[in-house]
Amino acid sequence: MTADPDCIFCKIVSGELPSFKIVEDDYTLTFLDLFPVSDGHTLVIPKRHFRDVFEIDETSLAAVTAASRRVAHAIEIALQPDGLSVFQLNRAAAGQTVFHYHMHLLPRNAGDPFKLHSRVRASDDALREIAARIATAMEREN
Ligand code: AMP
Ligand code: ZN
Repeated sequence: MTADPDCIFCKIVSGELPSFKIVEDDYTLTFLDLFPVSDGHTLVIPKRHFRDVFEIDETSLAAVTAASRRVAHAIEIALQPDGLSVFQLNRAAAGQTVFHYHMHLLPRNAGDPFKLHSRVRASDDALREIAARIATAMEREN
């Protein structure tokens, strides 16, 4: 399926919903998670709608993986976390809450407890500032 009219990430791809965008290419879009577990919590999604790893095709999966690697380097430059968790969840039983395939890039600092989700929405100002820092680092990286 190219787009699902009920999917919030498809609406972000189409521009119907806003996002704090970092970068895009033909196959992927990268933006900040609105409810970050840590500063710089980033999502990399395919532009086409696939629910999960069981639906995504290899072209989009490869593109998401390549984009994730590039954005990971930019997060490293911009935020210098101690580490970075890269993960994705498939189906509700695994904790998936948005049913459009996405890779989480989650900056980690030593001693941080590992959490998959947060309920606290970050401020627009904070998200704008972090997105700009990572986007600037993208231009230096690659
Ligand atoms: P998952 O639980 O792996 O499906 O992750 C979905 C993620 O999407 C969660 O971390 C949410 O905080 C995040 N999220 C939900 N709605 C939005 C949105 N409109 N923009 C950015 N991130 C979102
Ligand atoms: Zn979608």
